[in-house]
Amino acid sequence: MRYRTPSYMDKFHCIADKCKDSCCIGWEIDIDEKTKAYYDSVDTPFAERLKKDIKDGCFVLDEKERCPFLNDKNLCDIYINLGKEHLCQICSDHPRYYEWFGELKEGGIGLSCEEAARVILSNDFSLEETEIEEEEDLPDYDMEVFTALEKARDMILEKLNETGEKKVPLEFLLSWMLKYGKVLQLKLDEYSAEMEEIQEKVISELPEDAQIFGETNSEAAFGENPSEESPFGADSKAHDDGIIEEDDLAQFLMDGRVRSTLMAYFQTLEPMSTSWIPFLEMCDQVNRMHISDTKWLDEINSEKYEIYFRRLASYFIYRYFMKAVFDLDAAGKIKFAVLSTYMIWLLARCTIELTGQCDFEDLALLAKNYSKEIEYSEENLEKLM
Ligand code: SF4
Repeated sequence: MRYRTPSYMDKFHCIADKCKDSCCIGWEIDIDEKTKAYYDSVDTPFAERLKKDIKDGCFVLDEKERCPFLNDKNLCDIYINLGKEHLCQICSDHPRYYEWFGELKEGGIGLSCEEAARVILSNDFSLEETEIEEEEDLPDYDMEVFTALEKARDMILEKLNETGEKKVPLEFLLSWMLKYGKVLQLKLDEYSAEMEEIQEKVISELPEDAQIFGETNSEAAFGENPSEESPFGADSKAHDDGIIEEDDLAQFLMDGRVRSTLMAYFQTLEPMSTSWIPFLEMCDQVNRMHISDTKWLDEINSEKYEIYFRRLASYFIYRYFMKAVFDLDAAGKIKFAVLSTYMIWLLARCTIELTGQCDFEDLALLAKNYSKEIEYSEENLEKLM
């Protein structure tokens, strides 16, 4: 079986007790049957704790929502007493995620872990493949749709990670991604009748040349004067409706007033931690202000930070786009990637006003928090995709 991952995958290592927001706090973990059977068979003195702190196949969180095996040095007592190989599947995988497409397995590291977020932001995005032995169930999928989607994803990822003259400014690229998603979606909707069109026509008709692409998308989508303030937003072209409709999304990216709608909308989603909504409320208050610290505003709009946002967009596209082979909703996956990239930028902008800065570490923690709140809630993902 082929196994594909971002090249940075092996750079991730859990930082354990140095982690500011351990994944062993606040999450209920289901222990897989094989590991549970092993825990039941342990006959050392540690068995007593295993019996006491595991109920109904889950670790019983304490009153502070901590895993009962997370000791006061923030290290795992199961790891220490039984060894790394006896962590349950979820604990040993996290923050790694996997998806199976027949004979192809794709994996990556999830943004919800702060160390993974640092790795994702600080490394160029590229993919690599190896051959592995694999025994997992292989979900059925449509090979023709898969091939078309894979080409589409390759193209999006290539554009996001372009360098030099071919590089298209990110705000135009995000707008183009939305338009591209719509075209692709129309074709996917016609799929049952004319699948070949997706492969032969749609892909070949989409703009390949960065020059043409830049012209057609920048002016058509935004007029001649896109934002001077940021790669993603401007106050100059606001409109009133502010609803997050796909038709509006390209304009939406340039719309200052819509930031408030977006902030309000995110506050209606299911919160995963108690601090998230108060944070969004504070962001909402400073969201419409002109940022007083232009040094940091310039910084998050600089080329250096643009690369971080390109890497984030690449992460979201890589992780979610191919799932469209199962539900044929390619536009939703693109919309989610664009919206998430934009929202993290917007939160970074607000953070400058709230704390006076947004350095690399702040951005990594913001991205991690966004991911925990959104990617790890089925309900929120469904609403945003
Ligand atoms: S969140 Fe990441 S770095 Fe922190 S304890 Fe979990 S896996 Fe380790």
